[in-house]
Amino acid sequence: MQRKLPRARSRKRKKSNLPVPPFPLPDVITLRAIGEELDVFYHPGESARTSAREQEGSLIISGNIGQQECVHALRRWTSRKARAHLPPWLGQISRELCLPFGRAALRKQRTRWASCSARHTVSINEKLLFVPALLVEYVFVHELCHTVELNHSPRFWRLVSRFEPDCKSIERQLRSAWRYVPWWMCEPGSGELNQSHWRERAAAAGG
Ligand SMILES: [Zn+2]
Repeated sequence: MQRKLPRARSRKRKKSNLPVPPFPLPDVITLRAIGEELDVFYHPGESARTSAREQEGSLIISGNIGQQECVHALRRWTSRKARAHLPPWLGQISRELCLPFGRAALRKQRTRWASCSARHTVSINEKLLFVPALLVEYVFVHELCHTVELNHSPRFWRLVSRFEPDCKSIERQLRSAWRYVPWWMCEPGSGELNQSHWRERAAAAGG
């Protein structure tokens, strides 16, 4: 005879029980930084490969349209968009402010929007494409000021405030701007997807 197990006490849900992706693949992608919104279409095809191409304001994913394959294709496409738009934008602001930098490198950082090395290499997070333009401009101003002051000293902040008097408020907005980044740009298994904004989003979607 089986003994009845004691009923599990109600307790806080463990992290592992939280809703986690896969969420649905996107129907629309909004690149706030460059003011583009694309409808996404998935066309299954014979090819084992998956390709993403833009066509008249749409993004067509074709070939093997399995979830993982589509995620990789979307990420490759995002990298191409980032390369086309973000370094030239940084260059333009650098010229406007007369703050030259060494070179620009694209990354997919999990916790930073950008960084500046001692050699004045500015590493730009590709995920900035999803963030409003005003915030992206500020990130570039902030990093270019690091070519003068490679620290967060009062002198650094005085320099930043000369170009962006509202910098403190924009810094706050940037801290919550990760919510603009779609789940398929986050690193699986990194904990990034367990951040609170994802839990909120999944809850809002009824997940
Ligand atoms: Zn900084």
